[in-house]
Amino acid sequence: MFYLKNHGALIYAASDAIAVPHGFSTRAGGVSTLDHVATMNFTVTTGDSEANVAENYRIFLSALGLEPASRVSAHQIHSARVRYVTEADRGRVSDDCDGFVTDRPGVTLVVKTADCVPILLADADAGVIAAVHAGWRGPVGGIAPNAVSEMLRLGASLENICIAIGACIHDCCFEVQSDFVDAVTAARGEVFAEAHIRRKGSARYADLVSMNCALLAEAGIAPSQIDIAADCTCCAPFLYHSHRATQGKRGTMAAVIGIV
Ligand SMILES: [Zn+2]
Repeated sequence: MFYLKNHGALIYAASDAIAVPHGFSTRAGGVSTLDHVATMNFTVTTGDSEANVAENYRIFLSALGLEPASRVSAHQIHSARVRYVTEADRGRVSDDCDGFVTDRPGVTLVVKTADCVPILLADADAGVIAAVHAGWRGPVGGIAPNAVSEMLRLGASLENICIAIGACIHDCCFEVQSDFVDAVTAARGEVFAEAHIRRKGSARYADLVSMNCALLAEAGIAPSQIDIAADCTCCAPFLYHSHRATQGKRGTMAAVIGIV
């Protein structure tokens, strides 16, 4: 089950399925002041300062008991690549992946979203964790199952992996065009596209959450292992940064996980 937690002015979401420190940020509790990024924001690409973003990381990670300098993040590229990281990667920003996996304590995995799907994975007993940014090309390419297979390679057990899918754009708001439908059909076939893209009149709406769950099921993950946040970011732009709701003038949220 997902729940909101507060820590001073900070409000973040967490899942009781994940037994290691983790959280999904909202817009609350940061120091960013520009209207479109206020107040908790993790990107400098839409006008916020490096200093504000660094302070937001400090506030958020400290509240979770994670060391701000231990974070690894990426200039996400909408790929399906999950990279294995260790202590040597702390503080680094990768430019060749959209997810991370580790079996090392003291390494905080960060993915950033503003409508795309943030997914955190953990086998707490094995001490193996992962975080992925599933933009629409990510699920089609299989980034979530890729994270699962990397976790298994590091000693996780399939039945012990718990997965939390954070707030993202849902099919109430994610209207797509024919290029999207064509790409999903080409990658996964017509049956998959029909199952996860619904019609409403002449418009079509895609369900990124069900796409990720379907691919995780193919990888052997049971529905009971997946906890899904109910909120649609685009329906609640007062609480979440949403690319679609703001036509791109927005901040970015972070989903983080670490073993201490
Ligand atoms: Zn919505």
